[in-house]
Amino acid sequence: MRLPGLLLSATMACALALPARAQTPGHPDEALFRAIYRELVEINTTESSGDTLVAAKAMGQRFLDAGFPAADVQVLSSGPRKGNLVARLRGAGAKKPMLLMAHMDVVEAKREDWAFAPFTLQETDGFFRARGAIDDKAMAAIFVATLIRLRAEGATPERDIILALTTDEELADSPHDGARWLLENHRALIDAEFALNEGGGGTMREGKPVSSNIQLAEKVYRSFQMVVKDPGGHSAQPRRDNAITKLAEGLVRLADFDFPARLNPVTEAWLKIVTRLEAPDIKAAYAALAAGDNRPEVIAPLSKRANYNAQIRTTCVATMLEAGHAENALAQTARATINCRLLPDENPAVVEETLKKVMADDKIAVIPLGTVVDSPASPLSPQVIAAVEEIAGDLWPGIPVIPTQSGGYTDSRWLRKYGVPAYGVSGIFSEEGKSGVHGLNEQVGVKQLFDGKTFLYRLVKRLSGAERPG
Ligand SMILES: [Zn+2]
Repeated sequence: MRLPGLLLSATMACALALPARAQTPGHPDEALFRAIYRELVEINTTESSGDTLVAAKAMGQRFLDAGFPAADVQVLSSGPRKGNLVARLRGAGAKKPMLLMAHMDVVEAKREDWAFAPFTLQETDGFFRARGAIDDKAMAAIFVATLIRLRAEGATPERDIILALTTDEELADSPHDGARWLLENHRALIDAEFALNEGGGGTMREGKPVSSNIQLAEKVYRSFQMVVKDPGGHSAQPRRDNAITKLAEGLVRLADFDFPARLNPVTEAWLKIVTRLEAPDIKAAYAALAAGDNRPEVIAPLSKRANYNAQIRTTCVATMLEAGHAENALAQTARATINCRLLPDENPAVVEETLKKVMADDKIAVIPLGTVVDSPASPLSPQVIAAVEEIAGDLWPGIPVIPTQSGGYTDSRWLRKYGVPAYGVSGIFSEEGKSGVHGLNEQVGVKQLFDGKTFLYRLVKRLSGAERPG
């Protein structure tokens, strides 16, 4: 249900009188946010049967209803059922704009797999549940509500605040990827000094916040196919050098191989904090690596732990296998898919050469798949980090803000590739492994969502220079 315009401006006027901190449920701004969040979540935006253009238009209408000039609200379609929205809150122009980015498309969700209808927002036991409840419609709805609120409050930021809601983030190689498409075709519309995006957030254990994360880097996604071709033959007269055995031997060599370990400023800062509570052997391994010693035996305690290993080196692992055409025949083709996650500054050509050396067999072809998106780490911007630390410190006292490098990717890879430093930060806390993001029964705590909303409102206000004195 949409709020009538008049009521909207009346409630927003009330918001003026309240300090930013008082963003608890019941705040006058809550009803509008809830309505935006519900509307966005309940529009199916999956690739198979959804439509991000419908979502872009619905969010665009929210801005028009709130009095934004039509010229500052643009719905841009990059293909059928593919929509992006760019909205702009004008500032004084004293600084280059800042960009808020969130994607509207969501991962598939089948009704029969879920405990409830995935595109109907549920609010039970202190949780919102639906596909997209977090990823990424939480931030998308918060950004829409934040811009509308700032305008209603008569905020005069020093710089323009641009919001880009995008499509196709969840699809690995989509030509319609909204972030990429906007950067390549409408750069002026979204050009900014820096961007805030998904990828951060807070970690809780047993209901208690333990860390607030700011994502500054992402590993780079790259897959390869290893292919062995062979004339094949009758399986009653097998040859040892058949396609399947050759490929299997190569894969075993790959499993035993480690790319060299090294740190960048983001992983160094991250490990320094997270290893504080670890056993002495892990602390010692970190200290050695930070001092430049990456000998395998010295850093073994880090390499043995999957979470640390993924941060300190490029990794490649076999994820799919396919071979043979008949039970009673030697395979003519054997194929494996290898998924690599490269350190942000790794050279993809070097990785390909390394894989060929590891395979150590001319008969195993190494074929790169898809495109590589070079995505350097964002600088540790004092402006952004100080604002995040101060506001997070106020909302969650004593909880450390930790710089992170993600194993997966977000649209920040496109921003970073095209020279817009991106910071993944949301202030939305969730229990480790229990959010259902990309999985079943996705959920976010109602309190945690509203806390994130308060956090992002204050952060946007601070970074845009819209904060009024006092
Ligand atoms: Zn996402």
